[in-house]
Amino acid sequence: MENMENLTLKEPTTIKPDTDTNTITKTTTEDTQIKPKGSNINNNLKTTVGVLENVKEDQSWLSDLKLHSFDHMIDIGRTLCRKCDKKRKYFCYDCCLPLGDPEKSPKLKLPLNVDVIHHPTELISKSTAIHSKVVAFEDVNFIEFPEDIPDYNLDETILLYPSEDSCFVKDIDFSNIKKVLFVESQWHNARKILKHPKLQGIKCVKIDMQKTMFWRHQRHGDSYLATIEAIYYFFKEFHLSQNNNQYNGEYDNLLFYYTFFYNLIQTTYKQQNRDFIRKDNYIQ
Ligand SMILES: [Zn+2]
Repeated sequence: MENMENLTLKEPTTIKPDTDTNTITKTTTEDTQIKPKGSNINNNLKTTVGVLENVKEDQSWLSDLKLHSFDHMIDIGRTLCRKCDKKRKYFCYDCCLPLGDPEKSPKLKLPLNVDVIHHPTELISKSTAIHSKVVAFEDVNFIEFPEDIPDYNLDETILLYPSEDSCFVKDIDFSNIKKVLFVESQWHNARKILKHPKLQGIKCVKIDMQKTMFWRHQRHGDSYLATIEAIYYFFKEFHLSQNNNQYNGEYDNLLFYYTFFYNLIQTTYKQQNRDFIRKDNYIQ
């Protein structure tokens, strides 16, 4: 993943929710004052082996996820994408293909088709929603706003967007629903996207507020989710609603890359003898 080489400590783009009680998503981040010297994470990291140790010691809620093994990730250096021949790390964000042995990479089948409506100002190399396509390639489509938005079937489509009019996932009748849309953009752009004529009349849903463990320092509170977190929570809540409130990690691998990068960054801090920057209640 090439962007990991340039990953710096960042904080979220300034975004404002419609209400304080709604979970919203954020995507890309901006440079901030806490960028460490030499913030090229892969150069700073002496060995990725420490990542596995960190995974074992991690006490965050991510440690409770049922995830595919990270073992194969440790040896993946910069590798040519087998489709586009560009050098990437961990996965190719253009082709949405995992690097290394594809047989060792997690794969998911999602119960609903996903469209991620991607705003052009968001760097695709920093998209967390990409993780969902890497693990569930067949079920996730990236739609470039505004030109690629198709005509959606209003009866079969829902849109994850928190507003006062949105219904909670647990209250939705999913019998006719085949597709769920997620918006990947900054908040002010999300509102522009929502005004697109082809998105009018689509039922909006929201997930219960969840605390984010997004690894970067943030000043906006715990209810701001990375897009991949929102996708994960949606499918977890969808599964709960369809299975008598039972969930056994069926969609946890949506957070496979997210959790790996979280541990990678923690490991980097430890190797730099830095305290991992966190705030109270930042990690559950
Ligand atoms: Zn590629």
